[in-house]
Parts: sequence; structure tokens; C-alpha cells
Amino acid sequence: MLEKLKESVYKENINLVKHGLVIFTWGNVSAFDREKGLMVIKPSGIPFNEMKPGQMVVVDKKGNVVEGTLNPSSDTATHLILYKNFPGISAVVHTHSEWATSWAQAGKDIPVLGTPHADYFYGDIPCTRKLTKKEIEGDYELETGNVIVETFKKIDPMRIPGVLVHSHGPFIWGINPENALENAVVLEQIAKVAFNTLLIEKNPEFDKKLLDKHFFRKHGEDAYYGQKKIKN
Ligand code: 13P
Repeated sequence: MLEKLKESVYKENINLVKHGLVIFTWGNVSAFDREKGLMVIKPSGIPFNEMKPGQMVVVDKKGNVVEGTLNPSSDTATHLILYKNFPGISAVVHTHSEWATSWAQAGKDIPVLGTPHADYFYGDIPCTRKLTKKEIEGDYELETGNVIVETFKKIDPMRIPGVLVHSHGPFIWGINPENALENAVVLEQIAKVAFNTLLIEKNPEFDKKLLDKHFFRKHGEDAYYGQKKIKN
């Protein structure tokens, strides 16, 4: 079932290691088949270097295992909430990567300070509020998803494809696993460069016109970056 999607989810889980975004079992990638209403996700607690494509777990919209012998990622409920509320996305990446997690632990949004950020994220990358005691003691992973959705009440998740969960780490998404992984790698780089920028200059200036220029030359109807799509 969903063999191609399993391969692709497996591959991007392994790519987390290649890009230095995870150690041990610290992260997960999933993808959602919107037609079938099924999610493929990494099994929980299996080290990336021991993981096999056939171990990817298929769950339904409620998180019930439909195929697979291992438990799905502990963050399954968080991923499912994101697919439910952000209809344009089909893949989610979660890591505890060093630079993004540093911002998350500080409870700070990553400000947009330059064009590499603007190429991928149309504005600051928000940090959620802290979870309440009740949320932590209740359905924790579900509430983690809810606090992300709450943070995006007035933000378009297709224009800001990632978030920092307070005291925890980043969740990043995309239109497919490759795209979500690329956004995760970029978020980490942006987090590092923003930190360095603010060390050099406390009040850097970034022109909103440059933000528009860089974001919209890569995204939307008038995008012109890269090569023309070849039509068959
Ligand atoms: P899982 O191995 O259950 O996916 O957990 C990894 C993780 O990063 C938890 O936040």
C-alpha cells in the first residue's frame, strides 16, 4: 500500500541525517495522500541509520494504524492536525536542528532579514506561544498541532511553510516530501544566518520591496525564477 509514498518518506527521513538536521531518532517526516485520506510516517524511536522503507507506517486521519507492524511516530497527532487545517500541504518535517531549536527555546520569531529568507518564507518565521499546563498534561501532541494552527490564524501557511514550537523545535511543511525537506534545510540555514546577522548589527534593515521581489519571483502566478516548465 502506498509503496511509492513510503519510499519517498523514507528517503527524506534519511536526508534529514545527510543534511545534519537530526541525531539518533530526533525528528520525523510524513506525507499525506489526500485522495485516500492516509498518512505515511516514520516509525517511532527507530534510529535513522537502522530504518528501512518497509517500516514506514500508514495511518488514517484519526491516527489508527492501517498498515505497518511498528508504532507510528509519537508526533503523529501533530502531523495530522497540520494536514487537516492546512489543505495545501502534503508533507511535514519535524526536527530538533541546532539553530532553529535555539530560536524556539528562546521563544523568538526568526525575523526576515535578507533575500535567502525571502526566497522561501514571506515574512518572519513565527514561534508559537508556550503550551499551558493543561495542554501539556492532556493530549500533548494534538495540542502541539493546535498551537501551531492557532499561530497561523492570520498567516498563510503556503507563504510561511514552517514554524517554531516554543521550547521544542521546528515543524516545516511543503507540497511533497522533497519540498518540505528543502524548506527544513533552508529554515535551519536562515536561523543560523539571522543569529549571526544580529550579532554583527543589532538593528539590521531589510527593505519590504526586496521581500516582495524575492518571494514573488519564485512563488505565485508571476514567478519567473528558474527554467520554464517543459510541457509534454
Ligand atoms: P519519534 O521517533 O516518535 O518520531 O520522535 C522523534 C521526535 O523528534 C519527537 O519529537
